[in-house]
Amino acid sequence: MKYISVLGSTGSIGRQTLDIVREHKDKLKVTALAAGSNIELLEEQIREFKPGLVCVYDEEKARQLKLRIGDLSVSIVAGMDGLVACGTEPAADTVVTAVVGMIGIRPTIEAIKAGKNIALANKETLVTAGHIIMPLVKEKGILLLPVDSEHSAIFQSLNGEDKRRVSKIILTASGGPFRGRKLPDLYKVRPEDALAHPNWAMGNKITIDSATMVNKGLEVMEAAWLFDISIEQIQVLVHPQSIIHSMVEYIDGSIIAQMGMPDMRLPIQYALLYPDRERLESGKKLDFLKVRQLTFEEPDMETFYGLKLGIEAGRIGGSMPTVYNAANEWAVAAFLKGKIGFMDIAAIIEASMRQHKPIANPTLEQILNTEQETYDFIKGYTRSV
Ligand code: NDP
Ligand code: MG
Repeated sequence: MKYISVLGSTGSIGRQTLDIVREHKDKLKVTALAAGSNIELLEEQIREFKPGLVCVYDEEKARQLKLRIGDLSVSIVAGMDGLVACGTEPAADTVVTAVVGMIGIRPTIEAIKAGKNIALANKETLVTAGHIIMPLVKEKGILLLPVDSEHSAIFQSLNGEDKRRVSKIILTASGGPFRGRKLPDLYKVRPEDALAHPNWAMGNKITIDSATMVNKGLEVMEAAWLFDISIEQIQVLVHPQSIIHSMVEYIDGSIIAQMGMPDMRLPIQYALLYPDRERLESGKKLDFLKVRQLTFEEPDMETFYGLKLGIEAGRIGGSMPTVYNAANEWAVAAFLKGKIGFMDIAAIIEASMRQHKPIANPTLEQILNTEQETYDFIKGYTRSV
């Protein structure tokens, strides 16, 4: 039996994680759940999965939840301390990090320090604090298993191979809902257009990141940390069908790919049950005769220059990825509220990066300060333009 704590259980990845637990009740048991504020869904999850510890980040909502589940013996905690408590819950051996954004940094670090294995969905954490997390993973001897479909594919394609024989990683991208569109077309895009992803149903933030291709910028940095490979050895390839989830090219020219239907439950299950493979009864099998064609394109980095900026931030390193990520988090939230336009997202990221003097190897405190300074800069910047 594996005991798991799910941070972000009410989100897209969190809910699909619980689907996997439902399918493998004999192998997986939930010990802790955490969410931001959705106590209605959290209550249902508590009644079904019976964790001993639950965190609601919002303190008032945590109080309300306590009243709603007075008939159950479950501890309710709140805030960052509560999130960390769920990440370090003594009975858990694996923590699924499925919160959205850099808020995941502290609970992830504390979970690793407590010796938990990590099933990592929350890429923003690795992008901003990879230089702190990866040495800690090594020191503690824990497993950091990717949930992101591309990274799961790379992980599976590296299985049993000598990493020194890798020549490059080919990171595939669907291209999002605006693939093939050009700049003048994109200024007027509304949140509802950007939220209509062709292949994946995901949380709002990552869906916008896919539309801008900032998601791929984050994923390049995520892959560099996870697989200890240079940014130069990562090629982004647009593959609109999302069947090949990513590939590894070896020095002899062989390429190993992982394929399957676009269904996040596959990489989630792989991370949770690793190294075992089990049936996914409710999943669809890939039928090549139905797909018929797999196509590939060069990413359009002029139109989707958020991707280009991500690669640049990764090359510069230090605190620059934090600026890239924080500016994006701010801009995506503003875009979803209708306060800025679609193309302003990349413009805000670029302006934030241009004014920043990168700090090499930032401490956790410096990362969080850089995040705040970026928000402060953007507030001034958006007032001035
Ligand atoms: P969602 O927006 O669907 O879910 C986010 C989850 O985080 C919710 O449970 C939310 O709770 C919770 N949350 C938000 N803020 C806090 C907080 N302060 N404290 C505790 N919990 C919080 O996001 P996704 O599931 O789409 O994405 C999660 C992560 O996984 C992201 O980093 C994303 O990049 C990554 N990812 C997602 C994929 C996908 O298919 N969705 C694919 C690959 C990676 P509440 O509901 O209460 O707000
Ligand atoms: Mg992905």
